[in-house]
Amino acid sequence: MQRILNFINGEYVEPISRNYLDGYNPAIGEVYSEVPDSDERDVEMAVNAAKEAFPAWSKRTQEQRSDILILIAKGIEARMEDFVAAETNDQGKPLWLSRVMDIPRAVSNLKFYATTAMNVNGEFHKTDENTFNYTLRTPIGVVGCISPWNLPLYLFTWKIAPALAMGNCVVAKPSEITPMTAFMLGQICKEAGLPVGVLNIIHGLGPKVGSAITANPEIKAISFTGGTKTGAEISRVAAPMFKKMSLELGGKNPNIIFDDCSFEKTVKTSVAAAFTNQGEICLCGSRIFIQDTIYNKFKTAFLLEVQKRTVGDPLEESSKLGAIVSKPHFDKILSYIQLAKDEGGKILLGGHAVNLEGRCKNGWFIAPTVIEGLPFDCRVNQEEIFGPVVTLVSFSSEEEAIFMANSTPFGLAATVFTDNVSKAHRVAAKIESGIVWINCWLERDLRTPFGGVKQSGVGREGGFEALKFFTEEKNVCLKF
Ligand code: NAD
Repeated sequence: MQRILNFINGEYVEPISRNYLDGYNPAIGEVYSEVPDSDERDVEMAVNAAKEAFPAWSKRTQEQRSDILILIAKGIEARMEDFVAAETNDQGKPLWLSRVMDIPRAVSNLKFYATTAMNVNGEFHKTDENTFNYTLRTPIGVVGCISPWNLPLYLFTWKIAPALAMGNCVVAKPSEITPMTAFMLGQICKEAGLPVGVLNIIHGLGPKVGSAITANPEIKAISFTGGTKTGAEISRVAAPMFKKMSLELGGKNPNIIFDDCSFEKTVKTSVAAAFTNQGEICLCGSRIFIQDTIYNKFKTAFLLEVQKRTVGDPLEESSKLGAIVSKPHFDKILSYIQLAKDEGGKILLGGHAVNLEGRCKNGWFIAPTVIEGLPFDCRVNQEEIFGPVVTLVSFSSEEEAIFMANSTPFGLAATVFTDNVSKAHRVAAKIESGIVWINCWLERDLRTPFGGVKQSGVGREGGFEALKFFTEEKNVCLKF
């Protein structure tokens, strides 16, 4: 049993309550860690440490702060395999995926924000011969970062790196379902020489720790990634306190396939977009709209390709899908598969849990599931499932595809497959989402703005957007 501790003021400490939650390895369905069941008292301690650390940290030069972030990145790199194994044991994703995606990306996040922050400038505006304005950009103070379980260290570092780079002190909360790699990060920060109190990591439940972060008046900004309902709750509390907020929320992303696409590449990319990380990526394309002229051809090729995606022990190289992150989430996904049947859908593939032998016999696994015959506006096609479940829907015209794609309350990401350049740009412009990929999926350039419209979020992360979010701007106007 591995005991996780909070990281406050540069030290690992027990939660004040001395209570712990069960931490599961989803691939074996067993408790393997103890997660602090912290509360507002632990958050208060963290906020006090952060407040104390803020004056010195914010006064450091940009280069000094960036140097420490680079050292943290290198510290993770030096223990790459430990982090890779920890992420997989905690989350259930294949080990190879943690190795090629999650942990390298966490390293990139830190390096990217360390270096990009070196290039942040204030603006200068000359009004007339005797008047000019310049913009001062200063850190906010103590900020809160709250992250989800699907890409644990990847999204945790995506928030804390820009916050720290710009001179803020952070009270951060990883998901209570996948806290292990954030716990390990504390040690790396110590070794990298991050001053005490600059980053504080509090573990525990959302309604206890997350809500205490949101409600704490000393925390001036909240960067949150998670579900839309939680985002609404955070806004309800934080908005009347006039906190800055960046909310990255749920999605129900359309994948639109025209008959003039490069067929083989489209099939392969669509399968990846559907089932990578067991479909537990906010950017996964779960509603696949196919032009009626190639519907049957695409369906056949897609199903063949999905069948190659073996579900198995995350430690095995051959496993393309690992375990579902938790029993409640496993139950939720299965309930949506049942709903699809109730709504008249036809299960073309999967549609059931997978029982493995040996080590993983009690783990939570679901077969990649492909459904057809559902109307675009039924619940299964409107609500976020966040698992290995996709629907196939045919369309006959560009207008119809766009109409159906835009029919949900979400607007995070979309993919469009066509070799007609004009059509690609026309459709991309009309899709209601923060991100559109044309003939690709999950190509991420960290300099680009990242975020959603409608119920998928408010604000943008990535590039200078996140660095600006974590600062206050002051315009100084001078007449001489
Ligand atoms: P969640 O909203 O349940 O939890 C996210 C985080 O918020 C966790 O740390 C949780 O403990 C905390 N939390 C829960 N209740 C809280 C409250 N009342 N106040 C403050 N914090 C609280 O989400 P999840 O189940 O961990 O993650 C899945 C969701 O995240 C999906 O909807 C997915 O689409 C979304 N997501 C979005 C993005 C994006 O970039 N838009 C990225 C990844 C995941």
